[in-house]
Amino acid sequence: MTKATNLRLDYDVTILPPKSFFQPQNETLLSFQRGKGYRSVIETEPFLLLGVHPYDMVAITQMDEIFSQGNGDVHYVSRRQNATIVVVDVENVSPDVFAGHMGTYKVEEGWDVLLTKVADQYLVESKTERGAALMSSLADVPDADQGWLEMRQLVWERNKGRLRRHELEAEPSTWPDLLEEAYDHPIWEEKAKLCFSCGSCNLVCPTCYCFDVRDEVHWDLVSGERFRVWDGCMLVNFAKVSGNLNFRKDEAARYRHRYYRKGKYVPSKIGGQIACVGCGRCITACVAKIANPVEVFNRLAGGR
Ligand code: SF4
Ligand code: SF4
Repeated sequence: MTKATNLRLDYDVTILPPKSFFQPQNETLLSFQRGKGYRSVIETEPFLLLGVHPYDMVAITQMDEIFSQGNGDVHYVSRRQNATIVVVDVENVSPDVFAGHMGTYKVEEGWDVLLTKVADQYLVESKTERGAALMSSLADVPDADQGWLEMRQLVWERNKGRLRRHELEAEPSTWPDLLEEAYDHPIWEEKAKLCFSCGSCNLVCPTCYCFDVRDEVHWDLVSGERFRVWDGCMLVNFAKVSGNLNFRKDEAARYRHRYYRKGKYVPSKIGGQIACVGCGRCITACVAKIANPVEVFNRLAGGR
């Protein structure tokens, strides 16, 4: 985008989450050449991500934790370190969002600048040196007084109530315990009967980060690249291993695994945070209309 007039800060939800800026769909990790060895390919270009919604910012902070653990993922970390993020509080409510239930209707960390539309103007707050540098061009703009801060608080309160297009009865904090008892619940088979294994629910999810690593040799047969591409646990080949074995070959097993990732497995890696931010993209994207986490966890909370 080159013109400020093309900016739409009032959008309801993007089709894809901003994860692609940190973990592109197709990303070269290294290039190699016979006789010369290999060279890591690491992106170091600074960039600005403008207009990220709070629930997506929460997802980015979760991914920051995932990709920094252990040896860390230099490709992700480098992109993240080069990003300046401007979050904008939600103006228009998307069809399937439930961030109001997930505590992600607003966000307090991770961003450099926060924009909140208050009475037809934007209240701007910076959190970091990068944010302050961005805001230095606004030197003539008056400081917000207490009244403006109170109005912003009202925007947050309103969003907490508005971003609830689906009524979640099972508190997110109960999800790990619900799953503890749910491995043989009939819901997995019932829902998965309609699943096309298309993987759309994975691809649109801001907290799905699985990838596959592949090597490609160029036509010259002496050089090539190692790259990674997005993968998804709902795809039939995701759990295929050598010997043509697939340890999650049934739709129901894959469907169940996805909810265990969101409510139990990933939370166990990131201090108990639920790995669903309530963006609702999976609900919208699923043509079979079976990918609604609210429906699943409400059902688990209601017994069988
Ligand atoms: S599981 Fe669905 S609602 Fe939750 S973060 Fe992923 S796409 Fe959004
Ligand atoms: S989007 Fe729906 S149909 Fe496609 S894999 Fe996910 S649950 Fe199955």
